[in-house]
Amino acid sequence: MSQPAGMRYAEVAVNSAGGWRNTFTYSIPNSLAVSIGHAVWVPFGARMLQGVVVGLSDQPAVPQTRDIAGLIAAEPLLSDVQVKLAAWIGLHYLCPPFEAAALMLPPGFERRVLTFVHAGPNLSTESLGVLDDSQREVVSLIQGRDKVELKEVERMVGQRKARTVMQELIRRGVVVKTQELERARVRPKESPHLRLVVSPPEAEEEVKRLRAGRRTASQAALLELLLKEPVPLPISLLRKRLGYSSLPAGALERRGLVMMESLPVIRDPLAGRHYTPSCPPRLYPSQERVWGRLEAGLTAVLGGTSSSKTPVFLLHGVTGSGKTEIYLRALARTVELGKKGIVLVPEIAITPQTIERFASRFPGRVAVLHSGLSLGEQFDEWHRICRGDFDVVIGSRSAIFAPQRELGLIVVDEEHEWTYKQQDRTPRYHAREVAVKLGRICGAVVILGSATPDLESYYRSERGEYELLELPERIAGHRLASLPEVELVDMREELKAGNRSIFSRSLLRGISRVLDAREQAILFLNRRGDATFVQCRRCGFALRCRRCDVSLTYHSVEEGLYCHQCNYRVSVPGLCPQCGSPGMKFLGVGTEGVEREAALAFPGARLLRWDRDVTRGRHFHEEILDKFIRHEADILIGTQMIAKGLDLPLVTLVGVVNADLALNLPDYRSAERTFQLSTQVAGRAGRGTAGGQVVVQTYAPEHYALQAAAGHDYAAFYQRELVGRRQFGQPPFKGLARLLYAHPNAGVCLKE
Ligand code: ADP
Ligand code: ZN
Ligand code: ZN
Repeated sequence: MSQPAGMRYAEVAVNSAGGWRNTFTYSIPNSLAVSIGHAVWVPFGARMLQGVVVGLSDQPAVPQTRDIAGLIAAEPLLSDVQVKLAAWIGLHYLCPPFEAAALMLPPGFERRVLTFVHAGPNLSTESLGVLDDSQREVVSLIQGRDKVELKEVERMVGQRKARTVMQELIRRGVVVKTQELERARVRPKESPHLRLVVSPPEAEEEVKRLRAGRRTASQAALLELLLKEPVPLPISLLRKRLGYSSLPAGALERRGLVMMESLPVIRDPLAGRHYTPSCPPRLYPSQERVWGRLEAGLTAVLGGTSSSKTPVFLLHGVTGSGKTEIYLRALARTVELGKKGIVLVPEIAITPQTIERFASRFPGRVAVLHSGLSLGEQFDEWHRICRGDFDVVIGSRSAIFAPQRELGLIVVDEEHEWTYKQQDRTPRYHAREVAVKLGRICGAVVILGSATPDLESYYRSERGEYELLELPERIAGHRLASLPEVELVDMREELKAGNRSIFSRSLLRGISRVLDAREQAILFLNRRGDATFVQCRRCGFALRCRRCDVSLTYHSVEEGLYCHQCNYRVSVPGLCPQCGSPGMKFLGVGTEGVEREAALAFPGARLLRWDRDVTRGRHFHEEILDKFIRHEADILIGTQMIAKGLDLPLVTLVGVVNADLALNLPDYRSAERTFQLSTQVAGRAGRGTAGGQVVVQTYAPEHYALQAAAGHDYAAFYQRELVGRRQFGQPPFKGLARLLYAHPNAGVCLKE
């Protein structure tokens, strides 16, 4: 394969800090066939860097170009579709083109070329007297060591100085420079296998002979095992099957009966799990209606009878209304039409139950991608997906970048989840927006599903950009068939009545009831991050920005309150501006505080805490959850992480300790978050024979977000929230972008 005739120049997104915003033009040497999506080595200044080809042309964009040094992989690593998607991400989220492309490269791809400094031929003879101080410093760093990374030299004498010092030392032959590729962090895995190399009859003869021998019984057993399964078998497996700590493989090999060879093995995150294939159930009437529209859309787009824009469907349905069943149906149809799918779920929802549901419908055809996988597993999954091994890729936000070719359907479950936004590093992409864009680029149907759709998504559906599909009821006969009642408790009344506990009387009664009945409760704190606010203990008043109406954030160092949106600042008032009470510095409690208070109030109860601090480990949240499901604890205390699609039959009480924590997030979406979180936690309370109880504690029971959540009324919330958004010029009416300039030199930031 070669590039189209005449295309002798390539636009390359280069992995360098200097590659900000633009790509670089390189010439293609005759010896190379380069196409779009190829990963390449390119010379960049004095260094050799990785890059991705994002365009080809017959004319150079600049007068002087250097040659591409070589291909990193023989086949292009990015598809044309992905190159287009990366270009959009670079522009939309303002990130260097390579960073955007890197999202889609195989795990562990990024490798640098390291420069090393070694002793030169004249190091011992040259009198060190002629060297100046910095040169001598560098020499002493290298003396007695095999090699030193150039970075270390730069760190010692400064980057600029290092250049002149090195030049001089190299000229004098005191040191030499070499370059080496950084060690790969991950590579295909191989392991030793054993294989029979004689014919079965011969082997059988041997087995008989060895059996008869005095000390050769173990050799016979091994040979027999290999005879039974005439494929190369991993040594580790043979050892396990035979129960030997070491195999008599050497003896058999010396006699020419078996051969040892190193073969690739796949690191499979689902290895050892078996899924019973299941058949799709008959759809309920509400599902039938939704499915009718979806199927028509899928067939028209993937069957090629529609030339109009590929549709995006917004599937609005409460938890347990049968959305997942619809996704499964749509995936099956997609596969029938010769295409494949990607399903995004929030990280926390990737439980064994979720995987089981998809894997049993598509046995052996489901890939799983999430941050809990080892780098090796991620690497192998990536390559198998790229080969087309899977019909369905299911994963958390970055799975949208899986190399799934022939994409026909993208599902984003719980589309309102903010974990779809990458907040902690660049590119700060939103996986839902990327999914919609990807669908448009490659002509795939997109389904966004949620019980509490993101306001912007719902707004788009009202404007006809997305097609709204609704599943208004829970499935009859399902354990959660009806929605629980939600009690809003006014914490101001509690204080008036002399109750100083963080638990209201209603919640205390509820917990006692649960403990007596040997049922389970969840205490929930919708607190995110360490953003915190100041609230009046008596009336619940919290200061908001006069300009932006977002909650002010408390900074303990300066003892001040800031608006995170416009930098408005005030000091903490001594008295509450609303009720004059002096108790204005109530910062609320975290999960640990709740645990402490619960232990005091209910000394006999078994408590389990689940938040980001205790769930760092790989399978930790699964373990905590299993423990709770096995009823080894009575009360689970946690952050919004526990609000996700769990089915917990023994839970008959959910308490939201302080709903105002979300209401006072320093974010224009605080009301929306409150509504989403409260609606979702409410959905966790069991509706079995025991009945379910939800208690939401707040200082603002009249707030529309809480009222709407208590009434399970999305439409009411949506209409009311939209009014405020329009008034303050916030999304979806205006776009909001945050530009962050970071540089050690403030002047550079100001210039940008
Ligand atoms: P959601 O994704 O909206 O939470 P699910 O698809 O998980 O809803 O459906 C809720 C429950 O109802 C699940 O246990 C599912 O297996 C079951 N279910 C969904 N659709 C059907 C159907 N057509 N027939 C029987 N059971 C169904
Ligand atoms: Zn007050
Ligand atoms: Zn402000």
